[in-house]
Formats: sequence, structure tokens, C-alpha cells
Amino acid sequence: MIDLTSCLPYRGRFAPSPTGPLHFGSLIAATGSYLQAKSHAGEWQIRIDDIDPPRELPGASDCILKTLEQFGFEWDGPVSYQSQHTEQYQNALDTLQEKGLVYPCVCTRKSIAATQTSSAGKNIYPGTCRNGLAEGNKARMLRINTQQAIIQFEDKLQGHCQYDLENEVGDFVVFRADGLFAYQLATGIDDANQKITEVVRGFDLLDSTPCQIHVQQSLGLSSPDYCHLPIVINSAGQKLSKQNLAPALDPQNVQQLLWQALNFLGQKPDTSLANEPLINLWQWAIDHWQLSKIPPENQISQ
Ligand code: GLU
Repeated sequence: MIDLTSCLPYRGRFAPSPTGPLHFGSLIAATGSYLQAKSHAGEWQIRIDDIDPPRELPGASDCILKTLEQFGFEWDGPVSYQSQHTEQYQNALDTLQEKGLVYPCVCTRKSIAATQTSSAGKNIYPGTCRNGLAEGNKARMLRINTQQAIIQFEDKLQGHCQYDLENEVGDFVVFRADGLFAYQLATGIDDANQKITEVVRGFDLLDSTPCQIHVQQSLGLSSPDYCHLPIVINSAGQKLSKQNLAPALDPQNVQQLLWQALNFLGQKPDTSLANEPLINLWQWAIDHWQLSKIPPENQISQ
């Protein structure tokens, strides 16, 4: 496939899920993607990944946008919402179905675990329903066929990545048993449709990347470049996340927190910058941003 990303103007994005307020881990992803975009004189867009209502918290989207504003992030164009893209996701599923690349599946987590080949503790779907359902069985979800899908990409920080999707991930769900579009489908489609040229996000999403590229390739869409940043872990060694109740970013403390984010990302801001007006700190960060200064570890404590 022709690599279109190399001739398009840089466009990055930050795509939080509205499952709670932003925390220091989210600040790292937002800051890294913002500085990559700004230092390439590119655009930076916000997309709210709100396609999983059971996990969402009322008011979280507005709270996230307000926090980003308080930190001085300036985004291009209107904020987009995955919940408004369902027609595109449905059209994509229809196309995949016409091409015979997705199929209905009746398997439950339990039945998969029982028949299972497991790779590094992960259950790999063995393709049980790939050749059709037994009569009388009612489809619960749709899976995408990953047979012979070897996905390769050059991550700007992680280097060369290669996945044998069928054996390392298995046919993954693109339409869920609870009637919702799956994250891998929605994100693969949006990043391509929104002409994102580079996705900068946390290392925890590295293994999602081949799935999203597979969705794009199956639909004949081009893929962005990728750059997976180190993630922040707490003292118990867990990734900071809304699920394990990472503290929300304190709007009273934006300079210090942004300074800490730059420091976490290895940019070595001078201590005096922590007390400068936010605008000066951003200007310094944009002028001095270098991916090569980011520490090589993938998990770093705060
Ligand atoms: N919405 C996802 C999250 O907040 C991130 C999506 C992405 O960057 O691809 O974890």
C-alpha cells in the first residue's frame, strides 16, 4: 500500500475515553502528542472516545475538555465524538461483511478458555465460528478474520514491531455481544478517516496497534505512523488509570504538573521554568521537544 502519511501535513490527536477525570498518565499522552504535533507545525485534534456507555461517567467529557483548557492545550477544529460516528462504523462493518472478512460468533469467554491455546496468559480465539455457525445458534458478536495477517510497523520509540495476528491475538471482536462497536474497529476507522498522520499514545496501547492497522488494511484505508510513550506506574507497579483511581489532575497546580510531565518525558526542563507563566513553559517545551530524549523504559514511576 502507498504510504500517504509521508506527504500529508502532520496531524496528531488525543483521544481520551470519558470514563473519569484526566490523571497524570493522561497528561503524559496529551503532552507527548501535543508537542509532537506542535514541533512539526502540525494540527492537534481532540476526539472523545465515547462509544462504551457502560464504562462512562456522566460529565467526564466536559471535565476532560475543561482540564485540557486549564493546562493551555489548544486544539484544532471542533472536538469530535466517536458516538457521532456510528454510521461510519456500521458502513465499515457492512463493507467488511460484503468482503467476507468478518463473521458472526457465538462463543463466550468461558467456552474460548475451555478450548484454548494461550499465549503469554492471553486467550487466543481459535477461530471456532470462522466457517459458519451450527444451525440454531444465534450470533452474539462479529469477529474479524486475522488468518495470515502479519502486521508490521516502525514505532518511533519502540522500533520495528511485527505481529502474527492470527497466532498472537486471534480473530478479534469488532462488534460486541452487548451491541456496541469495539474500540479496535472505531479507532482504526477514525484515525484513518480523520487523516491522522501520527498516533502518539501510551505504551499500554502498543498491542492494539496491529489490530487497528488490520482494520484499516481490511478496509483499504491507509494507516498513520505510531509512537508509543512510556506509561506512568504507581508505587504498586500498576499503570495509573481511571480504573485504579489515579488522582485527578489538580487545576491549582498546572505549571508544576506540566513541568513534571516534561521531566517525565526526559525533556529536562530547568527548575526555574516550573514557576514561569504557562505560556512560557509551553513555548520552551515546543522549542526544545526531542523524541530522542524520552527515556527508553516503557514503564516509569511518577
Ligand atoms: N480512548 C483510549 C483511552 O483513553 C485511547 C485511545 C487511543 O489513543 O487510541 O485509553
